[in-house]
Amino acid sequence: MEYRRLGKSGLSVSEIALGNWITHGAQVDDTTAQACVHAALDAGITTFDTADVYSETRAEAILGESLKRIRRESIELCTKVFHPTGTGKNDRGLSRKHIMEACHASLRRLQTDYIDVYYAHRFDPTTSLEETFLAFSDLVRQGKVLYVGVSEWTAEQIELGAALAKEYQVPFVASQPQYSMLWRVIEAEVIPACEREGIGQIVWSPLAQGILSGKYTPDRPIPEGSRAASTAGSPFFDKLVGQWLQKEVLQVIERIKPIAQEAGLTLPQLAVAWVLQNQHVSSAIIGASNPEQIKENVKAAGVKLDTQVMQQINHLLAGVAEFDPKKTG
Ligand code: NDP
Repeated sequence: MEYRRLGKSGLSVSEIALGNWITHGAQVDDTTAQACVHAALDAGITTFDTADVYSETRAEAILGESLKRIRRESIELCTKVFHPTGTGKNDRGLSRKHIMEACHASLRRLQTDYIDVYYAHRFDPTTSLEETFLAFSDLVRQGKVLYVGVSEWTAEQIELGAALAKEYQVPFVASQPQYSMLWRVIEAEVIPACEREGIGQIVWSPLAQGILSGKYTPDRPIPEGSRAASTAGSPFFDKLVGQWLQKEVLQVIERIKPIAQEAGLTLPQLAVAWVLQNQHVSSAIIGASNPEQIKENVKAAGVKLDTQVMQQINHLLAGVAEFDPKKTG
């Protein structure tokens, strides 16, 4: 594993992080979840990503249980607040009340005294940013949160947050957007704004939820047990993995497979390595439904891709990859 600094901060994170959305507490049993966490640790992954809302809070609890015997100083535990964790009117959003209550609940489930990076999972247009950043500032002063981040905020929202973070002395150092060969919407606006503010990118779904593993092909049915099979019918399917299950996209991916082979990589390794070629990316958060996927994908750490390989990929994906910054969030 290789390690990078998170934005301008002194915090080092593993180039590849493990996330547990959809998997822990839902798609996979707890034994497999624990085996995945241990495969990640064995591979040198130190950065773990979760959120209070994942699997209705079970994902945090499973991660906490899996990591409870690991030296706390040797890992970075990251979680998020915003999405509803209950039915009450204050069980959501970025109000001071919800941030404080959610943070304490996350600390309990994660079995830890502090969160390394605490993210606002989305922008909350119904709460003043001053209230949100004051709550983050207080958590930082209390030692319950070390660094603050945001997820899927636009460049403008990030700039507004960064101004308040300076005023309230909040170490706002992370942005967590979606980023992959297929989803490049952060390149035009979010990355330049973050660069100005010293904020690093810890990006999600570098394999476009498994689409870039190459297991979905234009001519064969969706593989059993895959993310696409297990989330089919969910209200978010078309916005997530389902959006890429089109012949045109899958045909292009078939044409990238030989490029991976020529580079001595599997397609998932090439996809993760592609994301890591961007110097603004501090870490790529992978997901996994079994330990073998982690063992395979971590080999992308430290890989340098030739300019020619990058150009070939860009050329093939022109017209298929999404670049529009308005799609942020
Ligand atoms: P990926 O793009 O890495 O997709 C992971 C999935 O792809 C796996 O669960 C598996 O699904 C499949 N896969 C992975 N490796 C292989 C392989 N080698 N061969 C075949 N299939 C493979 O990331 P995720 O979409 O899981 O997202 C990663 C993390 O990012 C999340 O856990 C979460 O922490 C974070 N995230 C953050 C969001 C936010 O709003 N901030 C939103 C979404 C994610 P399967 O085997 O089931 O097909």
